[in-house]
Amino acid sequence: MVFAVCGITLSAVAQNKYGLKATTLVEYKASINVHPDKVLVDLEKFIPGIVLDIRYATTNNFTQEKIYNLAKAYARKPVAEALKKAQAELKTQGLGIKIFDAYRPYKATVKFYEVYHDTTYVASPYRGSRHNRGCAIDMTLIDLKTGKELKMPTEYDSFRKEAWPSTPVSDPEIKKNRDLIIAVMKKYGFKVNSSEWWHFDFIGWQKYDVLDIDFEELK
Ligand SMILES: [Zn+2]
Repeated sequence: MVFAVCGITLSAVAQNKYGLKATTLVEYKASINVHPDKVLVDLEKFIPGIVLDIRYATTNNFTQEKIYNLAKAYARKPVAEALKKAQAELKTQGLGIKIFDAYRPYKATVKFYEVYHDTTYVASPYRGSRHNRGCAIDMTLIDLKTGKELKMPTEYDSFRKEAWPSTPVSDPEIKKNRDLIIAVMKKYGFKVNSSEWWHFDFIGWQKYDVLDIDFEELK
């Protein structure tokens, strides 16, 4: 009992370190009873054929640490529905979607900030990330025949200026691919991040709260 009480106290302190109250599992369950459209959807189940490469479930990410225990991708229902439409359109061109990250528990955002303080590239824990709201997708395009990623300006999570969607690209193939991912996502309600060609925010993300629920709790 003492241990349990202690655990609750510790997690409450952690959540409030940056003055932001992130929604817990109990609060989330209550909120989706009232607003069922806010439910987090398992993208692998909801969008058959979508490919996951959840980098933060591996050490192949900028922190060089495994942040997630499970390689899962979740997003709020309207976000998942929009992404499904984008995938259907891409499929007509022989292309598919590979997801690097989707919903991200708030505690991971805190961790990223503490590893890398530049908020050009990592979200401020004072506000939380749109990933914490289940409203952002990190992704690239793949060729459905080969499964290979299309050539893009940089690798995922590059902190170089070449990752900015506004940076000119000389290679016409790379330019075409970058233009395509941005245009298709825009058509279905997403806006590309100004310093990351792979990051797309769902328009209307402000309506969704910052969550701190682990993937294990969502299963
Ligand atoms: Zn992102």
